[in-house]
Amino acid sequence: NFYLYVGFLTSFFTFYPSFNLCSGITQSNNNMSDYVRKSLQNLDLGINDEPVPLPSDLCGRAVNANRFSLIVSVVNPKKQNLRAIVNQMLKIWGFVDDCRGRVLGDGRVLFIFKSEESMNLVLRRGPSAFNEWMLTVHKWYPNISEDGMKIIPFWIQIKGIPIMYLSTAMVNCIGDNLGHVAGVDFDENVNWVEFVRVCINWSIDSPLRFQRNFQFVAGENTILKFRFERLRNFCSRCGSLKHDAKECEMEFMDAAAEEDDNGDHEDNPNADN
Ligand SMILES: [Zn+2]
Repeated sequence: NFYLYVGFLTSFFTFYPSFNLCSGITQSNNNMSDYVRKSLQNLDLGINDEPVPLPSDLCGRAVNANRFSLIVSVVNPKKQNLRAIVNQMLKIWGFVDDCRGRVLGDGRVLFIFKSEESMNLVLRRGPSAFNEWMLTVHKWYPNISEDGMKIIPFWIQIKGIPIMYLSTAMVNCIGDNLGHVAGVDFDENVNWVEFVRVCINWSIDSPLRFQRNFQFVAGENTILKFRFERLRNFCSRCGSLKHDAKECEMEFMDAAAEEDDNGDHEDNPNADN
């Protein structure tokens, strides 16, 4: 109904441009909810007025002041308060005097650093967390994409690759199955390897995976195990980084499945967490 109403007003103003706005709106002012009034300001009134050029030195100074900025997004808004992040991340990072934070809303905070060095120090620390849930941290630039801001560069330890198949190319190939490989930490010349490490640009929309069968020989499964470094809370039911098991929607799916299931499951190999 509301959209019909706005649509009606829009077409009304289009067809009757000489309609007296002041008297029309004052009359209905008392009846209009704040919501409707705010939404009406989305109408494009003013868009055809002469553009306003802003002083270039003013623009230059603003860009300069904001150029070393990190944009931080929360994964679990219920557990990660934005104001608390502004107050506490500076202490956690150790940059109380060299940085200030601004709440952007929508689960995001911008941290503006005085120097590139301190900004880069935060980026080099690797994945950050707040209140035991992950954060995504990215250097801010004007057209940073939504998908780009969902990435956490996790270093993942891969265990279980048979020695005869261990090579940098193999580690890359296995990493490609986990996600976009941003780096590999494996030296072919070392003579003792408990695990190899790959850095994967992991999207917070992707559920975590801790083991998977790979076939180095056709038809023969080898379990490889993955350990995410600096990982904090996640859902142990579905692997989501955004909620805990109590809030998992998979519970409903499981309950529905159990009704048709006779309980005949395959054996599940125990994970050594
Ligand atoms: Zn879940």
